[in-house]
Amino acid sequence: MNPIELSFEFFPPKTQEGVDKLRLTCVQLAALKPKFVSVTFGAGGSTQQGTLDTVVDIAKEGLEAAPHLSCIGSSRENLRAILNEYRSHGIRHIVALRGDLPSGMGEVGELRYASELVSFIRSEFGDWFFIEVAGYPEYHPQSRSPRHDLENFARKVKAGANSAITQYFFNPDAYFRFIDDARKLGVDVPIVPGIMPITNFSQLMRFSEMCGAEVPRWIARQLESFGDDRDAIRAFGLDVVTNLCRRLIDGGAPGLHFYTLNGAAATKSICERLGT
Ligand code: FAD
Repeated sequence: MNPIELSFEFFPPKTQEGVDKLRLTCVQLAALKPKFVSVTFGAGGSTQQGTLDTVVDIAKEGLEAAPHLSCIGSSRENLRAILNEYRSHGIRHIVALRGDLPSGMGEVGELRYASELVSFIRSEFGDWFFIEVAGYPEYHPQSRSPRHDLENFARKVKAGANSAITQYFFNPDAYFRFIDDARKLGVDVPIVPGIMPITNFSQLMRFSEMCGAEVPRWIARQLESFGDDRDAIRAFGLDVVTNLCRRLIDGGAPGLHFYTLNGAAATKSICERLGT
């Protein structure tokens, strides 16, 4: 049995069909014995109830479920209420984020950055929550400079985070460099690489554009050349992402966090190939 720790990210489904699909995905991925699974949160609170419901549903299946929580557009009072609700359900693991303000929502809220949310959680809830924060091996798209972004990353870890999960990337050197630079700034928590399985070319390009992740030209060109041939896209994506995971594990990554998009197949195939 490989000691690599796995975690899986889901989003709260909007329809009954989505709920049923996610339940099936959870059953399939539970076989891989993840350390935890996480559930995203729509910044501005758009999925507040959905995130809670999904986390509670997953926890009933015996999996440790960590809700994401973003502070942008929110007040301390509202964040306190959400955190109290999580605590009342026995939830002890959380992913603390700033989030992005949805277009049309003007108010930034009372906490401007994830570091302020981490400080707030620690000051109000002590050590109740195990806190994850986000890291960006290719730097956050709005950051002033790589150095400034790294310093901000170190700041939120020092505010009390226990662990970090990165944005996805396809260049392992970006991750290893990020780890070295973060360690130099005194960050000593685990930094788990975020992994995006490749199953759909246009969706991958759209997501990557939005979150500032680079899709190397050789990958984009190959995917594009497959056109509508989904099997070819999946087979190529499986090779590329499995090799990336192998290099990350061989280089000392403490675990792998999969952005599953609520599907089990691609994540399961990668993990099986890795022998985890
Ligand atoms: P921060 O760490 O606050 O950083 C945001 C920007 O501000 C960076 O450019 C940083 O350099 C800068 N900054 C930080 N502190 C300061 C400071 N003191 N002064 C000046 N600049 C500063 N989004 C969602 O809406 N819902 C989710 O569930 C979700 N889950 C995610 C999970 C992971 C693992 C990752 C990597 C991202 C996730 N996101 C999610 C996206 C995330 O919300 C966005 O990337 C958002 O733009 C930044 O959030 P953050 O917590 O990294 O912000």
